[in-house]
Amino acid sequence: MSNIPATIAQRYTRIQERICQAARQAGRNEDEVTLIAVSKTRPTADVQEAYAAGLRHFGENRPQELTEKATEFAPDDLVWHYIAALQSRQTAAVAQFAHLFHALERGKIARRLDVQRGERSESGRGSLPVLLQVNISGEASKAGIASHRWEEDAAQRAQLHALAEQVAHAPHLTLAGLMTMAPWHAPSAEIQQVFERTRRLRDWLATAVPSAPLDALSMGMSDDFELAIAAGATHIRLGRVLFGERT
Ligand SMILES: *Cc1c(COP(=O)(O)O)cnc(C)c1O
Repeated sequence: MSNIPATIAQRYTRIQERICQAARQAGRNEDEVTLIAVSKTRPTADVQEAYAAGLRHFGENRPQELTEKATEFAPDDLVWHYIAALQSRQTAAVAQFAHLFHALERGKIARRLDVQRGERSESGRGSLPVLLQVNISGEASKAGIASHRWEEDAAQRAQLHALAEQVAHAPHLTLAGLMTMAPWHAPSAEIQQVFERTRRLRDWLATAVPSAPLDALSMGMSDDFELAIAAGATHIRLGRVLFGERT
């Protein structure tokens, strides 16, 4: 392991090559894949370094950290993604600073985000694009709406559909797509299957809620993003492979 790239810029270049290759192998265009630099736990200086290297999309999972970084560093073209589930008392920071929320799983959170986003609409904030997080693998440790048996279980589909309808009708939210996380330490065939089943669930939901855009599929992290691209991911969320191991 002698030539591990040292800087964020060098790692970014290598990742772009891998995205390109994975997209082409899947018969897709690399422009269809948005790379989100997951900057959680990293100092704002790392966000600035990544921005200087050309990255524009950043992912955070703590409201306080999002607030600090979005306040300290606020170029017009920087896009903040909030990638973790929220408690009720944490919604305000996301309504204020996030450009995309990836991990909705409860109607109560949708209602709060809708109201709080509406209160900020005069400051030029449009509606907040929201992805529903689905738990396709069925692992108990995973967040997300239970969807591990969605193909045969009408009740699982109905629950997802109900939340999707609520978001689609919320004036200050947009139903943008689905997000999922692969099972930990699973063989690639199993991870691939989780990603493909997520894509099919998105396709089903898009038919069930035709008024919503539902184009986004947020899936793939440092260890599995190529599999996610092969399955149709539009947003990949990369932390370690770009910034190095978290300590
Ligand atoms: C931390 C995190 C990531 C990035 O994970 P890496 O393994 O560092 O690439 C992606 N998505 C979510 C939801 C995360 O919490």
